[in-house]
Amino acid sequence: MVKAIVGANWGDEGKGKITDMMAEQADVVVRFQGGANAGHTIKNKYGKFALHTCPSGVFYENVTNIIGNGVALNVPVLMKEIEGLVEKGVPKPRLLISDRVQLVMPYHILFDECEEERLGGNSFGSTKSGIAPFYSDKYLKIGIQACELFDEPYLKDRLENICIQKNPVLTGLYHREPLNAEDLFRTCMEYKDMVEPYLADTSSFLWNALKEGKTVLLEGQLGTMKDTDQGIYPMVTSSSTLAGFGAVGAGVPPYEIKQIVAVSKAYSSSVGAGAFVSEILDPDRAEELRRRGGDGGEYGATTGRPRRVGWYDCVASRYGCRLQGATDVALTVIDVLGYLDEIPVCVGYEIDGKVTEDFPTPRLLERAKPVLETLPGWKCDISGIRKYEELPENCRNYIEFIEKHLGFPITMVSNGPSRDDIIYR
Ligand code: GDP
Repeated sequence: MVKAIVGANWGDEGKGKITDMMAEQADVVVRFQGGANAGHTIKNKYGKFALHTCPSGVFYENVTNIIGNGVALNVPVLMKEIEGLVEKGVPKPRLLISDRVQLVMPYHILFDECEEERLGGNSFGSTKSGIAPFYSDKYLKIGIQACELFDEPYLKDRLENICIQKNPVLTGLYHREPLNAEDLFRTCMEYKDMVEPYLADTSSFLWNALKEGKTVLLEGQLGTMKDTDQGIYPMVTSSSTLAGFGAVGAGVPPYEIKQIVAVSKAYSSSVGAGAFVSEILDPDRAEELRRRGGDGGEYGATTGRPRRVGWYDCVASRYGCRLQGATDVALTVIDVLGYLDEIPVCVGYEIDGKVTEDFPTPRLLERAKPVLETLPGWKCDISGIRKYEELPENCRNYIEFIEKHLGFPITMVSNGPSRDDIIYR
């Protein structure tokens, strides 16, 4: 069976930790979308890691890790990541890369940088990893699939066409040097040597694994609010972050997805620009939560950028869980809130004088103001607790208050960064 682990919010909910934890009981872990633009932070017996491309099952020798066809694969970044794991004593991971995956090319990153520069203050806050230009090319049908690396004449033709398409914009709009098909071909051949040992027909591998009764985890990147269609467009990422897309981006039958764990952090955080209704606007209060947040503060795993932080947003999270099709909610990083006397929770949005509990379209979202309810804090350290009944009453009330507003069952509560910091309900 397939289980998906996805973000209910803006990303950075702690999916890496939950995946690493669930991978212990799994046979295969698959990344199905996104690229090296966001990271998953994992802390375990080998140390602390920020994974950008590797699936979070790489720490288990019995797990096959798959980079699915839906991923934006930056080959050198992946190679460096694997080297980094091995250097820190992790056994060389069992890894398969879909022969249909497409490659992030250096010009995707260049276009990303140029466009952010052109937009200046109005930019989308891109991590400049080439993700938007990559997915644009994929749907323009000028992307490069890994399997094309093995058909040199065909590839050369494609690269020449890419230069014809891209150079007028590159030179005319961005005033940069034009691309050269021969250079691109050389880069492709370097990538070919790097990926060749890992390439496989991964959808067929997964089909067989499922027939044999194996457990497959789909690991999402970012969260519902960053989904191209259902998120806060245009402040979104360029691939679908939804569990449903897992079927496409991994190549598994949709009916095999039996469990969908929507990971939701016990407070909110978001990187980059865009509406963020429950954001804490007082700079000192925000800085305190940012500093205490996550494991070592709320700073981007890929960029080191400080994340914007806010109170838990029931409106956005309920919408986030609904679009994911959550069967379970994992509420994470709740231990961090132990310092607060009282904890505001956003239970509604006020838009043009009217209060709603429904997540609005992006244009209306810009005008939304949070309706906050304040709950008492628990004022103690809850890390180390393993039984739900042993949590302080105010902490349980906080969890149950959120669960009631979500309408989805919180079956896991994470109270620390490590694998075993988990309370099952
Ligand atoms: P992801 O992209 O969804 O995996 O999230 P990130 O890796 O960006 O952020 C999660 C951060 O919180 C990481 O530093 C984790 O080690 C940490 N983390 C995960 N769960 C918990 C938790 O329950 N408590 C604390 N304190 N930190 C956690």
